[in-house]
Amino acid sequence: MNPGGPGAGATPGTTPGATPGATSGDTVRRAFIGLGSNLGDRRALLEAAVGGLEAAGDVTAVSPLYETEPVGGPEGQDAYFNVVVELATTDPPRRLLERCQALEEAAQRVRTVRWGPRTLDADVLWVEGCEVDEDDLTVPHPRMGERRFVLAPLADLAPDLVTPAQLAASGGTVTRVGRLGTDSQRSS
Ligand code: AMP
Repeated sequence: MNPGGPGAGATPGTTPGATPGATSGDTVRRAFIGLGSNLGDRRALLEAAVGGLEAAGDVTAVSPLYETEPVGGPEGQDAYFNVVVELATTDPPRRLLERCQALEEAAQRVRTVRWGPRTLDADVLWVEGCEVDEDDLTVPHPRMGERRFVLAPLADLAPDLVTPAQLAASGGTVTRVGRLGTDSQRSS
């Protein structure tokens, strides 16, 4: 990651000026949510998840849609569809996690095998100026820097946060396959 950027990898980096765990409720911060699906109607599931995020009125951009090979988890999983969603939000990281978990519940995700097939995976990737290191929430997301399925759509939205070298060093095959929904309704 760029200094001051997502700062994720095996060891999350330090965001200058970061406030551990908390944000003021009035501060609007740039944030990124990662969405993935490899079970069921992947496109419809991601469109529903983006719609769920948009209901809060803080979505500013949705990345192109990528088809990606599974990273980790059991052998033989189907390919994922992935997007990254950009927010300008007053929600602190924990509220963003709650929003992600509500989306997963709405997609009727059943947790069985870790990193196994899922209707929807929703992760808090990065929140401007925030670092969280708690049992159930780590921000920036600790594995995002290794994963091309995160970095490729993130780089589309935020080329200031992902260098070409970081993207090249990340793992997994990704293919851009278009966009969700109606292109003209989305800014990116
Ligand atoms: P997963 O199997 O990838 O969906 O993992 C979900 C678990 O990771 C949940 O129990 C979350 O509490 C935890 N978690 C920790 N950090 C994050 C994050 N940045 N975004 C989403 N889930 C997280």
